[in-house]
Amino acid sequence: MSTTEATNALSFADLGLSDSLLKTLKDVGYETPSPIQAACIPILLEGRDLIGQAQTGTGKTAAFALPLMEQIDLKISKPQALVLTPTRELAIQVAEALQSYAKNLPGFHVLPIYGGQSYTIQLKQLSRGAHIVVGTPGRVMDHIERKTLNLDHLKTMVLDEADEMLRMGFIDDVEWILERTPAQHQTALFSATMPEQIRRVAQKYLVEPREIKIKSATATVAAIRQVYWQVSGMHKLDALTRILEVEDNFDAAIIFVRTKNATVELADKLSARGYAAAALNGDLNQQMRERVIEQLKSGALDIVVATDVAARGIDVPRVSHVVNYDIPYDTEAYVHRIGRTGRAGRTGNAILFVAPREVSMLRSIERATRQPIAPLTLPSRADVTNKRVADFKASVAEVLNAEGLDFFSNIVSQIAEEQNVSAEEVAAALAMMCQKGKPLQIPGEDPVARPLPAADSRRPGTFGERDRKPRSEDRSDSRPRFDDRPSKPRFEGGDSRPRSEDKPRRAMAPSSDMITYRIDVGRDHGVQVKDIVGAIANEAGIESRFIGRIGLYDESSTVELPAGMPAEAANALKRTRVRGIPINMRPDEGRPDGASDGERKFKKKPSSY
Ligand code: AMP
Repeated sequence: MSTTEATNALSFADLGLSDSLLKTLKDVGYETPSPIQAACIPILLEGRDLIGQAQTGTGKTAAFALPLMEQIDLKISKPQALVLTPTRELAIQVAEALQSYAKNLPGFHVLPIYGGQSYTIQLKQLSRGAHIVVGTPGRVMDHIERKTLNLDHLKTMVLDEADEMLRMGFIDDVEWILERTPAQHQTALFSATMPEQIRRVAQKYLVEPREIKIKSATATVAAIRQVYWQVSGMHKLDALTRILEVEDNFDAAIIFVRTKNATVELADKLSARGYAAAALNGDLNQQMRERVIEQLKSGALDIVVATDVAARGIDVPRVSHVVNYDIPYDTEAYVHRIGRTGRAGRTGNAILFVAPREVSMLRSIERATRQPIAPLTLPSRADVTNKRVADFKASVAEVLNAEGLDFFSNIVSQIAEEQNVSAEEVAAALAMMCQKGKPLQIPGEDPVARPLPAADSRRPGTFGERDRKPRSEDRSDSRPRFDDRPSKPRFEGGDSRPRSEDKPRRAMAPSSDMITYRIDVGRDHGVQVKDIVGAIANEAGIESRFIGRIGLYDESSTVELPAGMPAEAANALKRTRVRGIPINMRPDEGRPDGASDGERKFKKKPSSY
């Protein structure tokens, strides 16, 4: 096996992908391939076996998903690719990714199958036919044994997060499945680490694989203060504005996100909050790009929201802060990003947002830069208020020092006399008027700080099989349940009805129709399914068995609730908070393409946990 390090100078068009897929990528806002994608896609398109050493956040899902899409023959409605994942959460995520890349492939069908989900549903779905099956090893094994999953047409097999499958005790199942796949097929194995047993599996089942590794650039970044904030308890946007407002020495910032669409979305939101912000992405021609950079230099803009490629080479000394709003794909990108600050001998500040499941990337960055990155305590409401009051006082002092206040003093005296109040009261009224649009005291609550898991704990903040569920449970035929919940069976919309003797806590007519709602909390806030169930059950008095499927995404989630919810319950839900964040529950209308939160359009209901 020869090992190649993934680097990133190519465009998607250079990789050999079809025009239709290139169009889809443009629509979802992907600008350039991540290093692991640039390296893996051509190899997989050639039909070769591959070992990809990459962790979450590197873009590894698309690295195998895009070549899979190219190989599917839509006319054959039999599984042509099988992706094995360690957890049901990941199975759903991968299925969602595949579905989102199938925008221009009408009739494409991907099916996630995992332990804990009812066999009845899975059998029905399997018999309807799927082009790609994504599943957890135990459940896939069961379906092969029952002959309900036919692999005769299999062309490609992907082992995703192989080291996690090993850690969770699934490696025997994986081998069992590999032994029952057709002799002629391509195999891609992805793993963050390469323990001996994974190497052994690769040697046994892969044929002359190419090995691709994410490059770990080591670099000195001494002049830059580096901190991270673990995304939890608050939306990234709110956290960002709090941080920027209170940061000392803030002059200008470059904020990095992953997609073109996200640059525009975030720049718009920041502008709406009063920041002089603009987007910088690959859609801008050279002249427009230069204009944005010029405006940043001159102070006409204070914030530029950019993708990696668009920000390449920017040299603007007044950039005091770089914010990694979306974590970079690799350490090299991180080093390049933060190099946009601390220029011309000035001190720079680099802030990194880390979602709970991205902790391993944070540790890789620390290793590569050979520097610890300190946790940042999110400024409290009081901190922000104090800063705003201090700024307000300073601006008042500036005006007091200016000349020509006599005319205004006169007006104040007149108001005081006419209203029979003191000059101090008039001043208070004027101060209140001044804060219009930007109150000195910010509304809302402070989130509860959550400790970051230790460096070696895997995928914190996730749930489900990941949490060391024994193998037997993956293979159980139990009714769907929420994690950490006792054995109470749940009403799983469509599949089964609540028992009639189980009366809900409030008058809630169980209806055959479930309505999907969207809420503004997701994985990035450290939220788990049980938090959502708990909040809905407690606040609206809806028993958990009436709560249908829950789809957990990065920045938002979906919840199915029975139609005909009483107004009282609906109102309670409007005010509900999960981990301190208002959930803003409303009927789900999907989200625009290219949302930056990693959520993909997935018209089918994503999951039932
Ligand atoms: P993964 O490492 O596969 O979990 O991907 C992490 C995130 O990066 C997901 O939200 C993807 O949608 C996003 N992503 C993957 N590839 C690209 C790309 N080339 N450009 C922009 N975003 C991407």
